[in-house]
Amino acid sequence: MLADASWSKFLDFIAYKAERAGAAMIRVNPRNTSQNCSGCSELVPKSLAVRTHSCPSCGLVIDRDFNASINILKAGIGLGEHNVGRSWAKRARRNISEAPVRELKI
Ligand SMILES: [Zn+2]
Repeated sequence: MLADASWSKFLDFIAYKAERAGAAMIRVNPRNTSQNCSGCSELVPKSLAVRTHSCPSCGLVIDRDFNASINILKAGIGLGEHNVGRSWAKRARRNISEAPVRELKI
């Protein structure tokens, strides 16, 4: 049961399942992934109750979680400010380039 498992074992399990599925688990630094604008990287502070990201700098208005997911994706492929290390980004780019192409609907 998840509540009984240690966090590291959970991450190991996710990495294992990702590898079996031909994908990769990439760890990113979560700092400000929901606060930074995915369009222009401007820091846009907001409380958890604010569910819409609205950037005063570039005018981007999107769902808060969608904004965060774009920042996390950018970090995972080494394009954002949140990637944990170069080796992770390098591995991510290699895995993405070798992964089967799947349609991504947004
Ligand atoms: Zn912006």
